[in-house]
Formats: sequence, structure tokens, C-alpha cells
Amino acid sequence: ARPSTVVSTEVIEAPAAPLPVLGDGVTVPLADGGEVEYAALDYAASAPALRRVWDDVAAYLPYYGSVHRGAGHLSQLSTDLFEASRAEVARFLGCRPDDQVVFTRSTTDSLNLLAAALPSGTEVFVFETEHHAALLPWRSRSDCRVCYLPAPRSPREAVRVLTEALTVRRGDGPALVCVTGASNVTGELWPVRELAAAAHAAGARLVLDAAQLAPHHPVDVTALGADWVAFSGHKLYAPFGAGVLAGRADWLRAAPPYLAGGGASRTVTRDAAGRVDVGWHETVARHEAGSPNVVGAYAIAAACRALREAGHGALAARERLLVDRVLTGLAAIPGARVLSLFGAGAERVGVISFVVDGHDSSRLATALSDRYGIGVRDGLFCAHPLVRLLLDGAPDAPAECGTPGDGQGERPLSAIRVSFGAGTPDEHVERFLTALAELVAPTA
Ligand code: PLP
Repeated sequence: ARPSTVVSTEVIEAPAAPLPVLGDGVTVPLADGGEVEYAALDYAASAPALRRVWDDVAAYLPYYGSVHRGAGHLSQLSTDLFEASRAEVARFLGCRPDDQVVFTRSTTDSLNLLAAALPSGTEVFVFETEHHAALLPWRSRSDCRVCYLPAPRSPREAVRVLTEALTVRRGDGPALVCVTGASNVTGELWPVRELAAAAHAAGARLVLDAAQLAPHHPVDVTALGADWVAFSGHKLYAPFGAGVLAGRADWLRAAPPYLAGGGASRTVTRDAAGRVDVGWHETVARHEAGSPNVVGAYAIAAACRALREAGHGALAARERLLVDRVLTGLAAIPGARVLSLFGAGAERVGVISFVVDGHDSSRLATALSDRYGIGVRDGLFCAHPLVRLLLDGAPDAPAECGTPGDGQGERPLSAIRVSFGAGTPDEHVERFLTALAELVAPTA
């Protein structure tokens, strides 16, 4: 079954050209003393800033001012732009009218905020294959129960595993399912719409970790049925330190403020006995204490606008061509094995992890950088159970992130991840495939 994570109403006529990014033309030194244009193929960790994002941010910075409480003209302008950024993000995500868009620091921060806002006694269901940012925050709530679901080997099995787990819920209290839209290890798409339907049928809610999905595909929370969605600006071509949690207002409104401080508090009084009493905001301000990252929020909105105007669907169509090229290229390299949970034919974004038998991943990644100016990543990608499962079928083996071995005849300790997106020219992908083939050729 093809997952139906992606909701796009755009008619895709032709793949788009790469979008200009600030890293275009940046050169890096090589070990042999030469210099080459850097090929950034680590988008899944942090993507380069879109030039449009930088242009918008640079145009705004002269007008930067404090938001919400300033009487001055620039404070009012900044406040308007901050709130307009919220509206742009809501539009980008297809939010419902009553949804709240909270600006956070990152996906990790967003999911920790939601964890802190869970009603007491919530049962949380999460696949063991998740990124640690989605796997771990719920553990901080000793009054909630976390149920780890085993790795499914197809989108259909994911729905079945969740449905069965939900039938043995302890009661009819609150429940939350946390699921990724696209894996940061395999790039594979998860059947979010079906998982949300299964969650809702059992009276549970769903939060979508869209850290890897949003940069690559349109996300429509209403059509998907996600109750919340979280993503990071720095993966969405807006590296200015902000993230987003968007979705249902009720749990957020009822929860204690994520951070205590100014902005979240409406009134603070002291009574005759010296006690301090606080009235907290019930609006989105409740979880945005302190001076917000206005530039980060503005940058995220600029990225949302730029992707929308460029045609997010057309960019995804072009990326699919790059994915096919990398998969075909890796298939031609002796000993290269692509990591996959869902198997051949699974739909993916531009995130591909692999190992080459007989070669240490860490050394290969270093050589790609030192000898060819190509930036990839090696390790367990903050998804230790998933990567260990895909490397050697042992999800609970101790994780030794990136520990180099001699690469000869042993099980790989880590994988290499190549990831790309809206700014990636074809040439970077070709250079990567040529370099890898040279590095693993018997004479290298
Ligand atoms: N979720 C997924 C799927 C990710 O890939 C990442 C980061 O790699 C995160 C969550 C955490 O994002 P951040 O580090 O921006 O908080």
C-alpha cells in the first residue's frame, strides 16, 4: 500500500529548477591543497538558507524591534510581522481556524512542549523507530504511560500494529500517538493519514513529527487529520533558531506554561501575606515566555512563502528524480546497501542512508569531505534503535555512534546518510556518486 502522507492539490507540469541558496558557490579546501565548490548533501541535519529567506530577513532587520509591549513604531511593526508570520505558517500547514501556532526553538523543543502539556494519565504510543526527539520527551512525564511499538516492515503493518496497540488501551482517558512523516534515516514516508484515522477511531490524538517531511513536501494537517505538527526552521531553509508546534489549542491552553516568565503571565500580584499569584495567558503567549525569536519566526514564514510560491509540489517532483538517480547510482556500486524499513518501492524524500560492505562508514564520509568537498553524515542519526535494527537486526544493541572500525569483515557500526533538497544541483549528486565509486573501487 502506498502511504498517503503527502497531500498536494498542485498540478505538477514540470520539475522545478533548484532554488538559489546562500551556500551556492562556497568553496572548501581539499586535503591535496586544492579547492572545490562545497556539495552540501546533509540537508536532513540542517539545510542551507534559501536566498529568498535571507533577502527577506535582511530587508526586515533594519526595522527589527521588540514585540508585543513596545509603544514605538518599530515595535508595532515587528509585532505585526511576528503575528503575520504565525498566520503564514498556519496557511503553509493547512491549519484549522482554532489551531494555535506556537513558535519554539526546534522540533525537539516543540515535542517537549507537547509532552509537558499532556493531561495527566495520557497514554503515549510511539514506534521504536522514531528519531530520539520523538521517542524520548514523553518519558519526562512519570504520570503518563509510554507504549513503544515494534518496527513495522510496511506502511500497512504500521497501521495494523498501531490499531492493535490501541485496542488494549488501559482506559478511555487521553491518548497520544507520535509519528514521523518521513524518516530521517531511510527517508521513507509513513502513512500519516491512516495512522491518524486509526488513532481517532480509538479516541486518541496524533502529533506529526514533520521535521523531515515539511522541507520536502506540502503538509496539510487538516487533510491528514494530524492534531499537532512539529518542525524546525533550520531544516526548512531558515536557519535562525526557531521551530513550530501547531495544532489543537485545548491541551495547550489547559497546561501549565512551558516556561515561566514575562509574556506568558497576564497578571502577577502579591497579597498581604507576601504570596505571589500569577494569572497566565490562555492564548498562544502562554507557551512563549520571554522575548520571542522574532527573526527566527519571520525566517520560517519567509521559507514557507518561498516554497509555496516556487511550487512545493514541483520541487518534490524534481527531488524524486534525484532520489531515483542516487538509488540507481548506489545499486551500481559493489557492496553498497541502502537502508530501508519498508522495502523496495517505498516512497521516499531526499534522505538515503547506506553502507558499503567492507568499508567503514566514518572513514568513507571523511574521505568524501577531505578529497572531494562533499558533506554527508555518518553515524546512527539520533535514531539508534532503527539504525541498529537496519544494520544488524538488533535494535537494542549498545549504540556507539560513529566509532571507527577497520571495516573488514565486521558488521557495520554506522551508516552514511546523503540528503538533499530544494537547492541541490544535479552536479552535487553526480559528484557524490563518482567520488563514492572511486573510493570503494579495489584500486583506491
Ligand atoms: N525529528 C526528526 C525526524 C529529525 O530528523 C530531527 C532532526 O534531525 C528531529 C526530529 C529533531 O530536530 P531538531 O534537532 O531541529 O530539534
